[in-house]
Amino acid sequence: MPGFELFSDLERKEVNDVLDNGVLMRYGFDGMRKGHWKAKELEAELAQTFASKHVQLVSSGTAAVSVALAAAGIGAGDEVIMPTFTFVASFEAIMMLGAIPVLVDIDDTLTLDPKAVEAAITPKTKAVMVVQMCGSMGDMEALQTICKSHNLVFLEDACQAIGGTYNGKPLGSIADLGCFSFDFVKTITCGEGGAVVTNNKDFYINADHYSDHGHDHIGQDRGAETHPFLGYNFRISELHAAVGLAQVRRLPEFIALQKRNYNVLKNAIARVPGVSFRRVPKGGEESYAFLNFFLPDLDSVQKVVAAFKEGGVDACWNYYQNNWHYIKEWHHLKEQKSLFPISQEVKEGLKYLDTKTFDQSDAYIGRNISCLIKLSWTEEEVAERAEKMAKIIRATL
Ligand SMILES: *Cc1c(COP(=O)(O)O)cnc(C)c1O
Repeated sequence: MPGFELFSDLERKEVNDVLDNGVLMRYGFDGMRKGHWKAKELEAELAQTFASKHVQLVSSGTAAVSVALAAAGIGAGDEVIMPTFTFVASFEAIMMLGAIPVLVDIDDTLTLDPKAVEAAITPKTKAVMVVQMCGSMGDMEALQTICKSHNLVFLEDACQAIGGTYNGKPLGSIADLGCFSFDFVKTITCGEGGAVVTNNKDFYINADHYSDHGHDHIGQDRGAETHPFLGYNFRISELHAAVGLAQVRRLPEFIALQKRNYNVLKNAIARVPGVSFRRVPKGGEESYAFLNFFLPDLDSVQKVVAAFKEGGVDACWNYYQNNWHYIKEWHHLKEQKSLFPISQEVKEGLKYLDTKTFDQSDAYIGRNISCLIKLSWTEEEVAERAEKMAKIIRATL
């Protein structure tokens, strides 16, 4: 998945444009910047790439989720439904706004189970956030239908699925708001960076203002701009945007490489009895950032992961006990360890985590192995890796 693997003169050229005029800030300084507006240019490119009317760049993917929620008016005491398998950023962003993360089971898509979503809806529910984990997607049609019928905001975290599609539409562009990360290990990188995409003009204007202290961005002079509402600083810098500009132009090349490498590995292990794959919803095409497969049980998964490591097959994980991605080890969330006081309403709202079990999620994550697909492998390296993987799994099961 990492775009950094192919860092090149193209990225260097864009960064040098910025260094030549010294304007590292995305807003203002018109006279000094010699026509270079890297953040603006990147937003225009991303609007094309993600087939969305509006794009707001921000400082990270976590910032993107926070800004998207804020732009949709999610705040104190609102419940946001999210999956048990994601990145910690999901609940961080929700809680930063004083809202309540309501975690629900995943299914064999490795993200939200529509039935679990429906069962979790209460009068306080304001939004549903699907997280397109490991390059694939949830049942978008079913989830969209639920959101429409309950009048909920539908958010799509596509940080790990850059370049995937559903019914021909780019992942991230399907829900009311989509979020992307361009951190150092994502499919395309800015070093640090993220984006909110939407076709809703009001959401976009909110995101634009909120991510820059509430500035209205309509004045000629930054100093003369007003603040229609309170905001924050989630701005991206020109340097980061410059890297992203070179990277987004290479996205088709990155996806083609991922797909080639993914298919070699998948074809090799598909022949091993006991191996099955995550479900990709009908009409969906993965970004091929990861190859995810299931084995019969957690024990065989742990043995295979250990044997992979031993045998030199790196970058394959089981997330069951991973404290970044799965609820099992999110003790800081379950124990409500906050640096500063959290509201009584949020405390009450999180109490379900003391007792609720997630057996269905445990069953899928416990049996899953997720392998990162690298761009830099040669054809020989992928072939060798595929053979090794199949051999190890066969020997272990
Ligand atoms: C990486 C990631 C984020 C956060 O992105 P950062 O840019 O690292 O803040 C959010 N959600 C998911 C699913 C991610 O993988």
